[in-house]
Amino acid sequence: MLNRKDPTHMADKLTKSDDEWRATLSPDQFRVLRQKGTERAFTGAYWNAHDEAMYMCAGCGAKLFASDTKFDSGSGWPSFTAPADAAAVETETDTSHGMTRVEVTCAKCGGHLGHVFDDGPDPTGLRYCINSASIKLEPK
Ligand SMILES: [Zn+2]
Repeated sequence: MLNRKDPTHMADKLTKSDDEWRATLSPDQFRVLRQKGTERAFTGAYWNAHDEAMYMCAGCGAKLFASDTKFDSGSGWPSFTAPADAAAVETETDTSHGMTRVEVTCAKCGGHLGHVFDDGPDPTGLRYCINSASIKLEPK
């Protein structure tokens, strides 16, 4: 059965309970994706990765970022100038921890990925600052 309430968006969403997520994610992935945690800088798997690759959502496998938009930001987190597809991620203002930032989430499963800042390089001027725990590298 198709979801008739909102066929353009809701039918594509993946929703699972915390217990279901806990069963499929590692503790680090669960803490970041589902509880909006942040891994410590320079500790993740991909901050210094230079492989030709597609980075998929660690929660649902959606294609999120391509390696040709990845750059060395010096922040200690994987950084990208743009998502692989504008529809792959969603953004929302986040005022937690006494800061106003823009949170980036996976459009499909709602998993927390990181934040986007406007101090990135050309061509977008954006810096998508993403936790390694939120993504999974798939070599090209
Ligand atoms: Zn996802």
